[in-house]
Amino acid sequence: MASNDRKPLISGNWKMNHNHFEAIQTIQKLAYALEKDDYEAVDVSVHPPFTDLRSVQTVIQADDIPIALGAQNVHQETSGAFTGEVSPTMLAKLDVSYVIVGHSERRELFGETDEIVNAKAKAVLAAGMTPIVCCGETLEERTAGQAESKVAGQISGSLAGLDAATVGDLVVAYEPIWAIGTGETATPEDAQQMCGHIRSLIESEWGAAAAAGVRIQYGGSVKPGNAPELMAQPDIDGALVGGASLDADDFSRIVKYPLYQA
Ligand code: PEP
Repeated sequence: MASNDRKPLISGNWKMNHNHFEAIQTIQKLAYALEKDDYEAVDVSVHPPFTDLRSVQTVIQADDIPIALGAQNVHQETSGAFTGEVSPTMLAKLDVSYVIVGHSERRELFGETDEIVNAKAKAVLAAGMTPIVCCGETLEERTAGQAESKVAGQISGSLAGLDAATVGDLVVAYEPIWAIGTGETATPEDAQQMCGHIRSLIESEWGAAAAAGVRIQYGGSVKPGNAPELMAQPDIDGALVGGASLDADDFSRIVKYPLYQA
């Protein structure tokens, strides 16, 4: 277990998978698999597609399930002529607690820059929710020895203008792009090294209290088998899980990682 007060957060990013019927089944199975002790040790969030949010919210509320509802993306404006977009206030109205911003797929496939990610993070906060701010390098950047500088730029750009107390309460997800959906996982040592680097960056820009409070998730092919060792690292405070979160059995085994730690 990490020797700090940060409660780990394990988040399931369902991406563009599961229609609302499948989403209902998955959240019900997950609720069945998880127990009081699991929720005491770990915070859990699920991030279904927008079309499933209302259905999943209804199940969570009706069955009083202590799983937080999350979204995968948001627009930075509150309302207006932004065809196809969803606003932070719309998500807050659905009791969404966490919103992923700046996932590498949004950055790479939809052209999201650090400025856009920063605006989205601020909009999420303004609506009373917590952003999960993603960062991570490509394989080329890692091979060229640029991983740390790439992540440093993303952290200062994406969190620009936030005060120390706010930074201390948010969630950062370190997701090396080469490890997402590939089956390649960063070694626990490499993941720890970068998560420690992120915490030091936050300490130098926002101070010791912000660095001690911010939760840093690792993401990239997290599975039941590798979760215990990754989560044992002192600067890793949870996981952002893609593929393995689609299956309630796999995801619940990841959430139960403390049972498998020495
Ligand atoms: C992700 O997309 O956030 C992710 C980490 O995916 P996967 O677990 O499938 O690598």
